[in-house]
Amino acid sequence: MSESLERHEFGAEVGRLLDLVVHALYSEREIFLRELVANAADAVDRRRFEALTQPDLGLPAEPKLRIVPDKAARTLLISDCGIGMGKAELAEHLGTIARSGTLAFAKSLAEAPAEQKPSLIGQFGVGFYSAFMVADRVEVTSRRAGTGEAWVWASEGKGDYTLAPGARDDAGTDILLHMKPDAEEFLEPFRLQAIIRKWADHITIPITVTRDGQ
Ligand code: ADP
Ligand code: MG
Repeated sequence: MSESLERHEFGAEVGRLLDLVVHALYSEREIFLRELVANAADAVDRRRFEALTQPDLGLPAEPKLRIVPDKAARTLLISDCGIGMGKAELAEHLGTIARSGTLAFAKSLAEAPAEQKPSLIGQFGVGFYSAFMVADRVEVTSRRAGTGEAWVWASEGKGDYTLAPGARDDAGTDILLHMKPDAEEFLEPFRLQAIIRKWADHITIPITVTRDGQ
């Protein structure tokens, strides 16, 4: 497997955005979960939509998002049964900034006075990179619906990421966060439930928070 591990540099703007998100939004870091849950719910909606014309992409009978904190391993898993990403999509969506909204966010954040920075979170989706506020390593294992292969994107948020073949039984995406030592509060099921109630109340797909190893 290590023979097929590819290392890629982030696009130039990603490095700058990561720095901004991690340092400027530190006091609001619980919003990482809102962003990852929103992405997971979007992915399930996309799979449902594509399945209208391609029935073989159909969702599981009872789709849900799973959040699994593991204190012993100090990891937090966010797992969905959404559309998934292939190798090229992982590189494109998680390795470059294709969307002008993200660039505009970086610019606004750089220019805003400190007290206004937190309110910018509401104006721009901070997105996937907000995971690096709480995690020092992020592993994304994804299988695009309609394909048989899974890929693992991994990064420490410091300028590069790796891509390698992986395994996943069904289509969807697992985001595994290796939490920073000072982010252990986000491994408490009660804390996670409270964040979900606060930020993800509008998400219609069921979200389960499972305790370690269950
Ligand atoms: P946004 O959601 O505003 O597009 P993000 O940074 O949150 O920006 O995510 C970037 C892109 O990565 C998404 O648009 C989507 O294409 C892809 N992505 C992120 N998370 C997932 C996921 N769980 N399943 C499928 N695709 C995802
Ligand atoms: Mg998003």
